[in-house]
Amino acid sequence: MSLRVLVVDDEENIRLLYKEELTEEGYDVVLAESGYEALDIVKEQGVDLVVLDIKMPKIDGIETLRLLKDESRDLPVILCSAYGQYKQDFCTWASDAYIVKTADLTELKATIKNIIKEKNI
Ligand SMILES: [Mg+2]
Repeated sequence: MSLRVLVVDDEENIRLLYKEELTEEGYDVVLAESGYEALDIVKEQGVDLVVLDIKMPKIDGIETLRLLKDESRDLPVILCSAYGQYKQDFCTWASDAYIVKTADLTELKATIKNIIKEKNI
């Protein structure tokens, strides 16, 4: 069975790009446009890994990360942001990885593979 990857991003074009590329990698990709929607999906359906945007309206990725980890401590979360500045933010330390967003998803794909290997999922 393929791994379920939840992509959380407020921008539709990014969600669609990630969905296309990660589906090609063989993952079962689920999309959420907000942190609240992501939480509902994790609670109701369960996922194996989350790719989470930081800059979003309503609740941002940092707050969403906290809520996701409260709900499911072992759920791997990769934070993504166009802004490298968050790398220094102590709140991002709770994530399993942090990557700077680009149109080239090579780093994201490699990061997902590393986490799967490390955590044996
Ligand atoms: Mg955003």
